[in-house]
Amino acid sequence: MTHLNSMTHTISLIYGDGIGREVITATRRIIDAIGLNIIWEECIAGCEAFHKGIATGIPQETLDSINRNKTVLKGPLETPIGFGEKSANVTLRKCFETFANIRPVRNFPNVNTPYSDVPIDFVLIRENVEDLYAGIEYMTNAETAEGLKLITREGCEKIIRFAYEFARSEGRKTLHCATKANILKLTEGMMKHVFENVSKEYPDIESHHIIVDNCAHQLVRSPEKFDCLVMTNMNGDILSDLASGLVGGLGFAPGANIGSDIAIFEAVHGSAPKYAGKNMINPTAVLLSGTMMLRHIGEIHAATALENALFVTLEEGYLTRDVFQSGGGVTTSDFTDRIINNLGKSPVGAIARTYKTIDMRQIKPSITIPKDVTCTGIDVFIDSRLPVTEIGGILERACLGLPMHLSMIANRGIKVYPDVGMKPACNSSWQCRLLSLEGTLSDAFILQFLSGLSATLPWSTIKKLFVQGNTLFYTKVQGEA
Ligand code: NAP
Repeated sequence: MTHLNSMTHTISLIYGDGIGREVITATRRIIDAIGLNIIWEECIAGCEAFHKGIATGIPQETLDSINRNKTVLKGPLETPIGFGEKSANVTLRKCFETFANIRPVRNFPNVNTPYSDVPIDFVLIRENVEDLYAGIEYMTNAETAEGLKLITREGCEKIIRFAYEFARSEGRKTLHCATKANILKLTEGMMKHVFENVSKEYPDIESHHIIVDNCAHQLVRSPEKFDCLVMTNMNGDILSDLASGLVGGLGFAPGANIGSDIAIFEAVHGSAPKYAGKNMINPTAVLLSGTMMLRHIGEIHAATALENALFVTLEEGYLTRDVFQSGGGVTTSDFTDRIINNLGKSPVGAIARTYKTIDMRQIKPSITIPKDVTCTGIDVFIDSRLPVTEIGGILERACLGLPMHLSMIANRGIKVYPDVGMKPACNSSWQCRLLSLEGTLSDAFILQFLSGLSATLPWSTIKKLFVQGNTLFYTKVQGEA
């Protein structure tokens, strides 16, 4: 293809593990064939780094390269057994605060699926650094595990503003925010609340909130109804994999991790070790991640050229093994050669979108420092096999002489003391709510209460109960007035 006379871009390139070298090489060859001025700075991460004794799986030189270049094209990374618990992928996303994960989902020519006749073309945007993925978990006793779902207003606002800007950049008309706010009123509820507020600033985009389980149902029943979706990390993780299953599988699922400063482009799939070095894997997912990278660095025409050449190749019936109907299929390198050969051609049916770059200047969360927040009580979590009436009695006695009282005890979110007539099956973990008699509960009284209690009942966790005006910063349990 003719030289596009673009500016020079330096990209940090991580081949990664397993099939990483094949899919990244295919992408690099095609982008180079377009004629862009790209300097690929090769870096290592994953298996190779772990085996060199680098505990995070990411050497300092790789971190320096990414910090310098701001843009990364990467293959999948493995965490080999015996080299720590944390994935180098997750570490990369967190280190560079790539808060937005973009997963486009669309039908491809000649890729037959149960949805081939349905016009699927949507983008799922997943919050990428918060939620349960902080991985903060505890065993509160030998039988009970808990995990912290961390959601911040700032995190919600960033991802929602990003989703609106992304929708605008692709000329999309509708944004669905999928949450579980009906049950998780504070965490998922915060996402819904922020979505409803920010949506007022984007009247050109039709905004809808949808309960996430219904969203899963609708995605399977009528995926053509969706244009752009935004959700918290865990919901996005699950639904984006469901979405890629609609259109041909992991070989067709590209992705991008975008931060305010740094962006990492990678396919959704992993290193598929059984196919490594066999020249039979489908490079489309990384190729389309490369397209997203080209748009991100402002090379819009090159991105469209790449996407068109891919569509032409698929329209010609050039398919890799994963989607070839009757066995066989072309090799990864033949598929790549064919795309290079088709650069400059336009597909007959499939249409590449008219893209613009995302206006990241608009992703500015409004941070408000909460004022007049007071602690009005505590929840104490107690691990005990005693009957709840006995636990209640002990707690009431521990309050004597202190400006606080036992308000209730709950088990698995249901009030069981004082008895309100609900008889759920209880486990040994009790949530005991103690409230101030004076409106505010000081640390001194909390500590005095706990030291008195420790002698009689083992407690595992306490949570302070804050309020701001009439707003509770905690949820009530089922049956609590
Ligand atoms: P995987 O590597 O994604 O492979 C699962 C299956 O998906 C493959 O066996 C193959 O299915 C299909 N597949 C994946 N990529 C394909 C492609 N490009 N073309 C065609 N088919 C493709 O998942 P995994 O086996 O669970 O994970 C392997 C390793 O990758 C693990 O160490 C995991 O931690 C890591 N991983 C890394 C990332 C990342 O770096 N972002 C993401 C996910 C997983 P068939 O067997 O049906 O042919």
